[in-house]
Amino acid sequence: MSRVGVLALQGDVPEHERALQDVLPEHEVRLVRSVADLEAVDALFLPGGESTTIARLLESSGLWAALGRRLAAGLPVLATCAGMILLSRRLEPSPTGRDPPTLGVLDVRVRRNDYGRQRESFEAPVRIEGLAGPPFPGVFIRSPRILGVGAGAHPLAYRGSEVVGVSSGPVWGLAFHPELSGDPRVHRAFLRSVLSQSTDRPQSSKTATMARTTPTKMAHR
Ligand code: GLN
Repeated sequence: MSRVGVLALQGDVPEHERALQDVLPEHEVRLVRSVADLEAVDALFLPGGESTTIARLLESSGLWAALGRRLAAGLPVLATCAGMILLSRRLEPSPTGRDPPTLGVLDVRVRRNDYGRQRESFEAPVRIEGLAGPPFPGVFIRSPRILGVGAGAHPLAYRGSEVVGVSSGPVWGLAFHPELSGDPRVHRAFLRSVLSQSTDRPQSSKTATMARTTPTKMAHR
């Protein structure tokens, strides 16, 4: 049994939990709020939210250094939106001026809020390497833009010709929110790729009827 963590300091934590409950009944899902919680997980999801706030809470809880150590030791992490910002190697100054420190493990150059404000949030089809089926419904909410991909990262997801997701070994960073699309394929593919056992199972009726969260519902990002 693997333990899958969701960093639960701020942001769209319940949405990740829900996506995980749906694809991973055979694994344990844990909320990570302390260093002890972090030590107990085999993979971690970093949610979307407000990267400056999450960075501040990571630091005050001691998780910043602990997460850096676990990343260096190969912890698999799927980071969405604000989560990706926190993992990126380089931030270009954002339009809003304030930028968080970053952990630097994803070799990408990123700018926060580069697609515009909350009302400019949008949904667009995304092509994801290795993902079978129709294009993935990419939900972009005050998303960071990937401006450059360094030699240490691999493009993983595309919106048209634009890279909107990368991987670096077991660390994935996505500018959009698979946890908000009601489509569990990304969570499933990530866990299948980083955990040895298969996470495949038939799609449940709960998934099929999961409400879609529209960008306008996601305030204060
Ligand atoms: N705009 C947020 C930030 O820069 C990220 C948005 C999100 O995670 N939906 O931190």
